[in-house]
Amino acid sequence: MADSKLYDLLGVSKGASDAELKKAYRKLAKEFHPDKNPDAGEKFKEISFAYEVLSDPEKRQTYDRYGMDGLKEGGGGGGGFGGASMFEDLFGGFFGFPGMGGGGRNRRQRGEDTIHPLRVSLEDMYNGKTSKLQLSKTVICKKCNGAGGKPGAMVRCRTCSGRGVKVTLRQLGPGMVQQMQSICPDCQGEGESFSERDKCKECKGKKVAKESKILEVHVDKGMSHEQKIPFRGEGDQVPGVEPGDVIIILQQKEHEVFTRSGSSLYMTKTIGLTEALCGFSFVVKQLDGRDLLVSNPPGEVVHPGMMKTVVGEGMPKYRNPFDKGNLYIKFDITFPANNFVDEAKLKELESLLGKRPVVELPEGEHVEEVNLVDFDGTQEGGSGRGEAYHEDDDDAGPGPRVQCAHQ
Ligand SMILES: [Zn+2]
Ligand SMILES: [Zn+2]
Repeated sequence: MADSKLYDLLGVSKGASDAELKKAYRKLAKEFHPDKNPDAGEKFKEISFAYEVLSDPEKRQTYDRYGMDGLKEGGGGGGGFGGASMFEDLFGGFFGFPGMGGGGRNRRQRGEDTIHPLRVSLEDMYNGKTSKLQLSKTVICKKCNGAGGKPGAMVRCRTCSGRGVKVTLRQLGPGMVQQMQSICPDCQGEGESFSERDKCKECKGKKVAKESKILEVHVDKGMSHEQKIPFRGEGDQVPGVEPGDVIIILQQKEHEVFTRSGSSLYMTKTIGLTEALCGFSFVVKQLDGRDLLVSNPPGEVVHPGMMKTVVGEGMPKYRNPFDKGNLYIKFDITFPANNFVDEAKLKELESLLGKRPVVELPEGEHVEEVNLVDFDGTQEGGSGRGEAYHEDDDDAGPGPRVQCAHQ
């Protein structure tokens, strides 16, 4: 499955044009440049990497199709851009050495972070919750300690003749051959491997094993959608590489009643016209299970679309959960149905709400009575009427007509 991480880094959509990419990159690069923002070195590298890939049509195509894995494998199906060295270029620079902003090159290379989305209900973000998340991760083989076999028994890899790179030729057409390089699958690019009998029996020379691991994810009160919860060093283990992090990204589920923006909660309440005029009470089930009794006294008329605030009944604030935002309630009002025509009742209403204004109707040739019909949204301004006039023109017709011109 392809991912969109690189696009997300630049804040553009997958369909972004080259110009859009460039613009987004320039803006972010300015913002996160180490000269201006010394703490954002990592971020700057990520942005630069994302742009490096996406601005190259070939790399972009590979990434679109195969995601990060496609880039790592040196273009499994399409690109074929250069095997092991390219891998180092891309991932050494991005995930590894903190070259930019003055770090030394002798720090250990760091593995890629593992991103996991975690869907969380709004209730859990309100109350806080600990979720157990089971992950499968690569760990260094415990039997051989990541050596892969008998110490000192490594021999030159036969598959790649010690070069660490596998070269495949692909016939593109008559006389045209494309050379594709990829990391040797047998020695993982090292050029050396163990002979069958010297390989570690546990990991079969792979140096690593799969292990299932349970992470306890603490969703704290007031955490937000897309908030990241990092687990330092819990990423996949590879010999000689400092493991990356597992990063949990919270995905807030939709809620039936509330929508959220920061620490504000929003809801819409539909009431009848009578309630809007005469006052009302209703119950809102708060996210912690309390019943909030909301009342509006008679005489305080509520208009369609009016917004009211319940102070302190929004979301708790992250790291300060006793401080809460507000709940905002928007009112929709249902008006009486169409059969509301009893003249006696209307008179009663007039006595309460005030009389209808009396309009003096004009008389004469220039007065035309027109009909009000329901607007259905598909009618274009006055087209129906225009056609009617057109037909009238046929009879009176001094104007030229297109049809005549053909005869
Ligand atoms: Zn090899
Ligand atoms: Zn082993």
